[in-house]
Amino acid sequence: MASQTADESEDLGSVNGPPFSKNSPDRAALGRLIVVSGPSGVGKSTVVGALAERHPFFFSISVTTRMARPGETDGVEYHFVELEEFVRMRDAGMLLEWAEYSGNLYGTPRAPVLERIADGDDVLLDIEVLGAVQVKTSFPAALTVFLAPPTPEELERRLRSRGDTSPADVERRLEIARWQLEVAEEQFDHLVVNDSVEAAVERILRILGPPSTKADR
Ligand code: ADP
Ligand code: 5GP
Repeated sequence: MASQTADESEDLGSVNGPPFSKNSPDRAALGRLIVVSGPSGVGKSTVVGALAERHPFFFSISVTTRMARPGETDGVEYHFVELEEFVRMRDAGMLLEWAEYSGNLYGTPRAPVLERIADGDDVLLDIEVLGAVQVKTSFPAALTVFLAPPTPEELERRLRSRGDTSPADVERRLEIARWQLEVAEEQFDHLVVNDSVEAAVERILRILGPPSTKADR
């Protein structure tokens, strides 16, 4: 598995930190960068969707070379791109982080994330583990949450029950999940078990505290 090496910390000020006074004095603070990661099938999309009903976020839409699944729309779940376009974006520095995952490339477009943070919105990334680690290296103030399954068996059941991933890809994803679970504890700020969606959302809300959106100023 390949991933970008984050070679230096990017200066956003402190993501949670000092006053931001780009245009007017009432632009009080930067938004926060929140990363939710964890094995495929653990329930990231489900939990993040439920979380968004309780805490306003800007969702980053990733670019990927993966084929769209039935029901997925370009520009909604992902920007679906050819490999050449992904490589062009990556080499032009347009991605905040990127990683190869189960044979495809995934990356976070840099500009929208930085713009929304500068504008005071909390930004949420739902990305795999290598990308999450890159983000933490580049933006130490980012808050990283690893969503863990209650048991490995339950992870397999959820992944298969989704029914949109081929049996071979399920096997690959479970294999990746094994090492992700091993590294999680030392690499992430918080580990949250997704036993029930409601309980997981409550735990993440407690970690986040109040939103830092413009609406609340
Ligand atoms: P991910 O985004 O991590 O790949 P999904 O959100 O697609 O995972 O969830 C995978 C499957 O597990 C879906 O069928 C979803 O409904 C189910 N699921 C998610 N969270 C839970 C939970 N706490 N308990 C039971 N099933 C869950
Ligand atoms: P899926 O193919 O199931 O949509 O996603 C596979 C994995 O890629 C998931 O763990 C998802 O969180 C992750 N992912 C989605 N977008 C990105 C991204 O921009 N960067 C990285 N590193 N991982 C991503």
